[in-house]
Amino acid sequence: MLSYRHGYHAGNYADVLKHAVLLQALTLLQKKDKGLVYIDTHAGAGGYSLNDEFAEKTGEYRDGVARLWAQNSLPDSLQQYLDNIRHFNENNQALGFYPGSPALVDMNLRPQDRMLLHELHPSDQQLLSEYFGQDSQVKIVEGDGLKGLIAALPPKERRGLVLIDPSYEIKTDYELVAETLIKAYRKFATGVYLLWYPVVQRQQTEAMLSRLKDSGIRRQLRIEQSIRPDNNEFGMTAAGLWVINPPWQLDEIAKEMLATLQPILQQPGGSYRVEWEVGE
Ligand code: SAM
Repeated sequence: MLSYRHGYHAGNYADVLKHAVLLQALTLLQKKDKGLVYIDTHAGAGGYSLNDEFAEKTGEYRDGVARLWAQNSLPDSLQQYLDNIRHFNENNQALGFYPGSPALVDMNLRPQDRMLLHELHPSDQQLLSEYFGQDSQVKIVEGDGLKGLIAALPPKERRGLVLIDPSYEIKTDYELVAETLIKAYRKFATGVYLLWYPVVQRQQTEAMLSRLKDSGIRRQLRIEQSIRPDNNEFGMTAAGLWVINPPWQLDEIAKEMLATLQPILQQPGGSYRVEWEVGE
């Protein structure tokens, strides 16, 4: 049985970057009226209390979203992210709830859009189902999100945003994720794919990213934040999003975001990069 629970990590620095970029990708895609499907392969519980035993045990959100909470001079993209977080906390002066990717996207879903959420862990599946109830725009699939992604492509809308956000608990996850993403692209080459990745052992992460880079797929963008210099012994030192088919201007928006986030979130020796790894 898998032991990862996102409640321990909700709102940490990696979530801030992941969700701020996700929101921008969605906003850019929604500039066109035509409906789209949002596919979350690893949805988690939907949203998270920051006052429960999980969040309190690690306190990771304190070095993430809590550092942004009081900021009042942010670029539009980060302001939009923070306004969304505030929306979920509107009855409180204090930050007490953190929306996960399904809740954030749901808040921005238009009537012509829909969501397909996958979750494997029974407890998180149940929380996700309770969160969404009978919402007709949302379908929850209880099972493996990588298999579910392949089964869902190509979507009938022919417009889609896919978030692949695994917990990387099993070593082979890295290989499987790259393989699945390449397969998914072959079935739906115009989709926008956001792959979240951690850097715990730099070589392991780069092996996965190199597979994607060498796959022949065009338009691959790296958006990465290193909170401190790489060190194979001290847990996650960086996290990023590997984006296939980023919507126009996402690269420039991400640069502005990271330039702002750097002094707020980073520790000594940290850095960031936004680089086209494969061009047009
Ligand atoms: N995307 C969520 C967000 O941004 O709020 C967080 C997801 S969390 C990093 C990863 C989730 O994937 C966990 O809830 C875990 O139970 C789930 N999971 C692990 N393996 C899975 C699989 N093969 N298919 C679907 N979900 C899986």
